[in-house]
Amino acid sequence: MASNPQLHLMTKLLNIEGMTVKSYQIIKNIGITIYLNNNNKKAICPDCGQKTDKLHQNHYYVVRDLPFGEQKVYLQVNRRQMRCEGCPKKFSEDLEFVKKTRTYTERLKKKILSELLASDLKNVAQRNGVSEQEIETMLKEWGKELTGQKPSGLKRLGIDEIALVKGQKNYCVVLVDLDKKIIVGMVKNRTQVEIKKYLEAWGEEVLEQIEEVSIDMWKPYKNVSEALMPQA
Ligand SMILES: [Zn+2]
Repeated sequence: MASNPQLHLMTKLLNIEGMTVKSYQIIKNIGITIYLNNNNKKAICPDCGQKTDKLHQNHYYVVRDLPFGEQKVYLQVNRRQMRCEGCPKKFSEDLEFVKKTRTYTERLKKKILSELLASDLKNVAQRNGVSEQEIETMLKEWGKELTGQKPSGLKRLGIDEIALVKGQKNYCVVLVDLDKKIIVGMVKNRTQVEIKKYLEAWGEEVLEQIEEVSIDMWKPYKNVSEALMPQA
């Protein structure tokens, strides 16, 4: 059993809000498994918005998190099934750091997506011990989250491509904030019309701020950039 000061330190190092480390296990050549406790006793009912602390049942499962040095990190999460006293419905609670039905934390997703900008799907998957399919899911999810959002403070824009399935001509066009190294937009179809539409949706305010555009030599990217961001 780990001592309290040790668990306190682990909780601090892990740094996930609302979560406490209750124990952990280091298995050689496999990684670290960290068992978590949720500090929030109450959860909000998605139907009526009432808070409840009535537990229906515990649901324990394991997800991947950011590595610690060269070790893989697995988190055992308890996504409790709660019972609402208002409706009265049963529901599975929301956890900010890991979405429902996902096998990875939100922060691992962000790390992997940013690595993808400097490498390819296969390498990033290998390095992080996730499958290429999982990365594609991460990309799709991120694309959805970005819909309707405008990037703030974007000065240097990169237009890049990510090859999705190996050996196939299946590309996803990503718009990148080169300073923050994050994907700020995603266009499903690699056509000039689609890219232009996506950029125009950001509005002039955003486009005018862009000082530099970095593209590969594909002509349509150049055309779009010149048309929408002549200053860059
Ligand atoms: Zn309810």
